[in-house]
Amino acid sequence: MWFSQGFLLTRSQNLFYMIYPRIRSFTVLFFCAFAVLLLGCTKDKPVPEQTAATPEVKELQRIQPAAGHFMMDYMPDAIPPTSFNLPDSIARPVWVRNAAPFINSSDRPKIVVVIDDLGLSRKKADVIANLPAPLTLAYLPYARNLKDQTELARTRGHELMVHMPMQPISDKADPGPDALLKGSDPEDLVRRIEKNLDVFDGYVGINNHMGSSFTQDQAGLEILMAALRERGLMYLDSRTSAASLAETTARRYSVATTGRDVFIDHEISEEFIANALLKTEDIARRYGSAIAIGHPHEMTAAALSAWLPTLESKGFQLVPITSVIEERDPRVHAALVESVAGL
Ligand SMILES: [Zn+2]
Repeated sequence: MWFSQGFLLTRSQNLFYMIYPRIRSFTVLFFCAFAVLLLGCTKDKPVPEQTAATPEVKELQRIQPAAGHFMMDYMPDAIPPTSFNLPDSIARPVWVRNAAPFINSSDRPKIVVVIDDLGLSRKKADVIANLPAPLTLAYLPYARNLKDQTELARTRGHELMVHMPMQPISDKADPGPDALLKGSDPEDLVRRIEKNLDVFDGYVGINNHMGSSFTQDQAGLEILMAALRERGLMYLDSRTSAASLAETTARRYSVATTGRDVFIDHEISEEFIANALLKTEDIARRYGSAIAIGHPHEMTAAALSAWLPTLESKGFQLVPITSVIEERDPRVHAALVESVAGL
């Protein structure tokens, strides 16, 4: 018994003396490591007063983001909010980007004069392009030298449109090559639309040449409006048929749209044209804006040459088509506001 106790004691003592130095050295190591760690943390830790006093932090806190511009927080004042928040190609559709440089400077009634059927006669087109700007000029896509003609018109301050040929009800009237026909095969229709839209550049949208039949073709109009929406173009309905479905279809496809109020020269006589211009003034006075469509006839050009310079003194404002879209199509205003503040 004692032997075994003595043995155990001896063994325990042996174990103690064997392990103790190791425990001691381990403890020393542990405290050293802890001390180094503590020192390191203390060294890297910033002094609170210094952080609060950093000039950059004060500057960032001072700049307040505009409502809806979440990414403006750290931008200097020199950069306009809209150009930063939204790329130009997304924020503004093509019809806004290609609009004639024009500023709505007053709340006077607005008059839009559209001259279409342009391009076939260079001489007539030049006479129209020399009238006071801004007019809205629509060119037939199958005319020649449209690039030159349209560039000249643009430099004169006019706004451009493609005058899209469409099938009329009467078999006697020929809308021209690559016209959009009622009941067309969808692939052929898309090909014609794209061909007509690719002839020249810098335009804001289209209006229909003839088209009293096609503008009643729901299926065809849906293909057309899908193409216009994809390209960011607007649609002006010439309203060659009282039963036109074009504007309602354009709205369903989120295409900016409005329609003609007056034909200036439906009859080519001085009396008819004079009455049409008076009617245009009357509509503008009553409703805030009026859209009149005319053609490059000599008599029309002469009447416009005399009438356009009188508009300002009568209290009207001559504007391009894009300047009235916003007020005539309330969806446009909402869409533009949304696209600018949307991110
Ligand atoms: Zn036409």
